Amino acid sequence: MITVIGSLNQDIVVRVTRHPKPGETVLGKDHFVAAGGKGANQAVAASRLGQAVTMVGRVGDDDAGRMLLAGLADDAVDTSGVAVDDGAGTGIDFITVDDQAENAIVVSPGANGRMSAADVDRAAAAVSEAVVVLLQLEVPLDAVSRAATLATGVVMLDPAPARALPQELLSRVDVLVPNRSELGVLAGQPEPTTTGDVLAAARTLRGPDAIVVTLGAEGALVLRGGEPPVAVAAPVIEPVDTVGAGDAFCGALADGLARGQDLVAACRRAVVAGAIAATRPGAQPSLPTAAEVQAA
Ligand code: ADP
Repeated sequence: MITVIGSLNQDIVVRVTRHPKPGETVLGKDHFVAAGGKGANQAVAASRLGQAVTMVGRVGDDDAGRMLLAGLADDAVDTSGVAVDDGAGTGIDFITVDDQAENAIVVSPGANGRMSAADVDRAAAAVSEAVVVLLQLEVPLDAVSRAATLATGVVMLDPAPARALPQELLSRVDVLVPNRSELGVLAGQPEPTTTGDVLAAARTLRGPDAIVVTLGAEGALVLRGGEPPVAVAAPVIEPVDTVGAGDAFCGALADGLARGQDLVAACRRAVVAGAIAATRPGAQPSLPTAAEVQAA
C-alpha cells in the first residue's frame, strides 16, 4: 500500500514547433486538457500497476477539481485524503511541448499551495500504515515534512520542482529520486552532465539511504551508500512527449518497493514505465498499465 502526499493539477497542453522566448508569441496547435500534478500522476502510475494507493492533497471546489477526483476514482485511487478547498481554485499546469518532445511548464498551485501539516494529520493513518510514502515538492514543505515524520515505511522523495531542502527532511528520506538538474540544485552545483559529475554531486548529499538519478533517454543511476553505482539503461524509444515520464518512473519505483522488490529490480521496471509514458501525449493519459509494462 502506497500513500502519496502531493499535488493535483489540471494540465492545459499546447504543442508548439518551439517554445516562445521571453516577450515572444508563437502559434501553437490545438490544446488539450488532461489530469496532471506530480502527486496525482505518481498515484495513478502506481495504481495502474496494480498497487493500492491513497492520495492526500487539495483541489478547488470547481469543475477542474471534480474532473481530477473523478479521474483518480476511475483509476482506483482512494481520494478520501483529498480535501475540497472553497478558498482557492484547483492547481493548473500550463504546458508547451515542442517538436523535440521537450516540455516547458508553468505551475499555478492554487489549492495545492494551501496544503498544510494539518491535511497530512487528517490522513495520519494512511501515512503511517503505508509501505511506501511517496512525496514531491509541488505542495508546501510543511506538509511534505510532516508526512516524512509520520511515515513508518519507505520514504521516497521526488525533489521536483527543485529547491534547496532542510537537512532534517533529507535525513528522513530513504530513496531520493532527482533528475540531473534537481540533483544540481540540491548539491548547490551546476547541473551535472557526465556520470562522474552526477556521482560527485550525489556524494555531497547527506541523509537518503539511496539516490536514484533519472537520466532521461539514458535511464537511471542507482547509488546506495558504500556500494558501486548501478546504471539501469532505458529502452530505446522515439519520444513524443516526455510529460509524465518522470512520474511514471517514480510511481513504478514506489510500486516495486511496496512489493518488496530490490531497488535495482524496481528501477528496471521503472525505466520501462517511464519510456512508455514518453511515447504518448499527456501526463495521466500516458501512464502504462502493468500489462503494458510486462509486454515491453
Ligand atoms: P524528468 O521527466 O523528471 O526530468 P527524466 O527525463 O529523467 O525525468 O525521465 C524519467 C524516466 O523516463 C527515465 O529514467 C527513463 O526511464 C524515461 N525516459 C524519459 N525520456 C526518455 C527517452 N527519451 N527514452 C527512453 N526513456 C525515457
